[in-house]
Amino acid sequence: MNVLTLVDEFLIAYRDADTRAIACWKYIADQALPPKERDPLRLYLSDLGKCPRQVAYRNLETEKDRRSSQSESNDRFMFHMADQVECTVAAAVLYADKLEAFQNGVAIDRENWGGRTDIETAEEVIEVKSVRSNSFNYDNALLPGVTLEYGLEPYVKPNGELVRPNIAIKDAHAYQAGAYGKYGSHPKDPIVVVYDRGGSNTPQQYRIGPEIHPTIDDQMNRLELVRGYLPTLPNKLPKVLKERSYGKRVVQEPDWRCSYCDYKVTCSPDLSKSEWASLEQGSWRWRKKADIDALATFAHENLPELSKVLP
Ligand code: SF4
Repeated sequence: MNVLTLVDEFLIAYRDADTRAIACWKYIADQALPPKERDPLRLYLSDLGKCPRQVAYRNLETEKDRRSSQSESNDRFMFHMADQVECTVAAAVLYADKLEAFQNGVAIDRENWGGRTDIETAEEVIEVKSVRSNSFNYDNALLPGVTLEYGLEPYVKPNGELVRPNIAIKDAHAYQAGAYGKYGSHPKDPIVVVYDRGGSNTPQQYRIGPEIHPTIDDQMNRLELVRGYLPTLPNKLPKVLKERSYGKRVVQEPDWRCSYCDYKVTCSPDLSKSEWASLEQGSWRWRKKADIDALATFAHENLPELSKVLP
C-alpha cells in the first residue's frame, strides 16, 4: 500500500469539501485518548533507540530541566501538529476503507512493557512520524531490514549529478515499528511514513522487515538491564564522528540525542566539538589530538581518501 498516495487523495477530497472526507476527519479527531497515569518503571516500544541514561532518568522520576514558558508553549504547538499529521494519515486510511484500528495497545510478552500502534489495516501497521524539515538534510544509514518504498524519485541534474533522497528515518522509528511487526500478527511487515512538518520535503514511506528483530531484542534486553540496576545510571552517550562542511571536515561532537534531551542540565554531558581532520587544498590532514584508530575506522567506512593518509 502506498500510504503517501492515500493521504494525498484524501487531502484533495478534503480540500474540495467532500462530505465523507470531512466525516472521516471528524471521526478520527473524536478518538483522541485522554492522558493516562504512567507507571514510571514501565518501558515502552518508543524507548527503543533512545539514550538508556535518559530512560533511566524517567524511570527514576527525575525532574526534567526547567524550561521557559515560551519553550513549553512551542512544544505544545509542535506536539499538536504531530497529532494532526497522525490524524490526517488515519483519516486518509479510513477514507480508503482500510482502517481496522487506531491507537491500539500491543501485547508484549515481557514484564512491564507497553506500546500502542498508530494505525492498523487488515494487512499491516502504519507508524506515523513527523519531523523537522532539517531532518531531511541528514542521510542516515538504513538499518538491516529497512527499505525505502516511496518518496522522492531519484533524478539527474542538468550537470549530470544524480540526486537521490536522503534517508530521513531515524533508527528509533525503525525499532519501534519493527517491534510492532515482531509482536503483532499482521501478514505484511509494518510501514513507517515520515512527514516534514514544514511541508518542504517529499514524505517517505519505509517497510521494516524482520531482519531488524535481533537488534530489537538486544535493545529491549539492554533497557531491562538498566531498569534492573536502578538507581545506578548508565554511562552518558559517547561522542560521535561526523562529516561536516559537505564532507570536507571530520568533527567529533556530542550525540544528537543530547541536544533534544529533557535531562541535559542534570546530566551535563560534554558538549564540546573538535575537528579531527579536514580537506585542505585537495589533501586530507588529520589533527594530532584525534584518536587515530577511531578516525581510521570512520574513514574506512565513509572517506576512503582520508584512509590513505592515516598512519
Ligand atoms: S544529555 Fe545525552 S547522555 Fe545525558 S541523558 Fe540526555 S541524551 Fe543521555
